[in-house]
Amino acid sequence: MTEGPAFDVAADTDRPVVLELADDCTPEDVEEGAYYDGVVDGVVDYGVFVQLADAVSGLVHESVLDADYAVGDELTVQLREIRPGGDLSFVPAALAGAERQRVAHQYEATPIETLADREGEVVHLDGRVVQVKQTGGPTLFVVSDGTGVVPCAAFERAGVRAYPTIESGDLVHVVGRVERGGHGRQVETDAITPLEGAALDGAREAVETALDEHAAPAEVDPLVEWDALDRLWDGLEAVAEQLRRATLEGRPVVIRHHADTDGIAAGVALEAALERFIAETHADPAAPRHLVTRLPSKAPYYEVEDVTRDLGAALSNRDRHGQRLPLFVMVDNGSTEEDTPAYRHLQAYDVPLVVVDHHAPDADAVEPFVSTHVNPYLVGDDYRVTVGMCCVEVARLVAPGLTEAFSHVPAVAGLADRSSADAMADYLALADAAGFDEAHCRAIGDAADYAAYWLRYDAGRGVIQDVLGVGDDPARHRELVDLLVDRAHAAIRRQLAGALQHLDETTLESGVRLVRVDLDAHAHRFTYPAPGTTTGAIHDHVVRETGEPVITVGIGPDFAVLRSDGVRLDIPRMVDDLNEALAGAGVSGGGHLVVGSIRFVAGMREAVLEALVEEMATAEIDESLGAASPRTYTLD
Ligand code: MN
Repeated sequence: MTEGPAFDVAADTDRPVVLELADDCTPEDVEEGAYYDGVVDGVVDYGVFVQLADAVSGLVHESVLDADYAVGDELTVQLREIRPGGDLSFVPAALAGAERQRVAHQYEATPIETLADREGEVVHLDGRVVQVKQTGGPTLFVVSDGTGVVPCAAFERAGVRAYPTIESGDLVHVVGRVERGGHGRQVETDAITPLEGAALDGAREAVETALDEHAAPAEVDPLVEWDALDRLWDGLEAVAEQLRRATLEGRPVVIRHHADTDGIAAGVALEAALERFIAETHADPAAPRHLVTRLPSKAPYYEVEDVTRDLGAALSNRDRHGQRLPLFVMVDNGSTEEDTPAYRHLQAYDVPLVVVDHHAPDADAVEPFVSTHVNPYLVGDDYRVTVGMCCVEVARLVAPGLTEAFSHVPAVAGLADRSSADAMADYLALADAAGFDEAHCRAIGDAADYAAYWLRYDAGRGVIQDVLGVGDDPARHRELVDLLVDRAHAAIRRQLAGALQHLDETTLESGVRLVRVDLDAHAHRFTYPAPGTTTGAIHDHVVRETGEPVITVGIGPDFAVLRSDGVRLDIPRMVDDLNEALAGAGVSGGGHLVVGSIRFVAGMREAVLEALVEEMATAEIDESLGAASPRTYTLD
């Protein structure tokens, strides 16, 4: 030992000194030749084990034992030798009139991020308990100090809760040995003690400082030079900061994305970034799987049905696995008034919420519920900045290492959402340089939309990464995209072959061509393409054949899908007018200037459609409006 414990054998007394170690002392606090008070904690054939502190014990060999001892007996010993490897060897010591001195452990808390290099060492951690999980064996206290997160195993009896007074959220001091077990790296604890007084204040501040430092987004430049991204950059950094902070605090993240290509691109990028950052900062290799959930939203808003399911899962994870409630992240969705009923559910549980969307926002409606709301409309831009573009940047700010794998994804998202942004040329060049030419990027978009239809409420974990071309097998990616595109195009051709025979075409007084098609009678339903995609395909066909302005209405038994080119549809106003004119029609719906859908009760179908045509007659011709940001309702 180079440095001794905090006592002075040459004190101004000739009385022998016997040391009492504080519970959190480690083998570093003892010194050969010194006397210690201990307790017998094991009796074996070859001697007795004597414990001096939770993490300090050694052997009195039977050859030097002076009496019989039982577990629990108090005993004063002299430390004869610290053996190579750290085992302690004691001899019994009988000292009359000895002076007792208390030895407090002087420790420097070890940053959790350095534990990978300390396997086998006894360490001291100061941190916050972020999860308490009872296993069939030990109790796992998952501890975060702002630099990383590590499970600390404490064993009472198999399946019995250790330290029952210590709960999630407490700041604690952990002493234990860093071990690599069947479940990755963990600390086998000797002691966990709640921090108090000055130590508590100091640890709280240290954890906050470390969190601020480690949660700060990575320093990266945007993939392309674009003033729109510059205007959004602070918001994107704020989202990245919240994702990193959640990870470092052991908080799960739930990502809900619109179930189209742009939404999938955005959701998968965030998921990949989180998984990477969690793997870097959490000792448990299963943490990425347990802490990230990505799910599609079939509706173009957060449905109450979905939030109910998400909250149920979160509460169950809290009760069964001691997890914190998640951070919710809405992408390519979440900016509208229709989202607020679900947000009220989240608010009831005090869960944080972040939104990255590029649909025309109702900021007043959603912002009371949202901690960070990123939307190009809020900085003077529009849907042409797609959420896939935004979230690839957020992903890079969380985990810059995935830049290369995702460099073609903004182009895929932009093409799928028909972005006409000037920056598309740069994104396409970037994709091309990565081996994804424009035709292939379009094919990925079609394949992802088709896959999303069949995945329904499933995230398609693994498969969807291969479709996007961010998986690890380029050959499989190509094969999968070819397959899905063939199938999707064949299904659309089949749908068009039937439906195009039954178009009801008229010209409104304004000169707008109105095309109606009864999807219930003339389209395959409950299969791909769904009514939104079917109506879009018919509409695109008509525009190609006849030119603008055109409105296409795909009609179902209790819904209608609307698409237009060169005409300004104000769908929210139409919904209001229809409800005013038709009592009991129960009209609802939404959308944008050129795409949307409405629902109504089936019994009022004819009346609603008639009134709808009257509404269309007043629609304003606007040649600048094309098929922008088509958020198709996947009605089926
Ligand atoms: Mn989108």
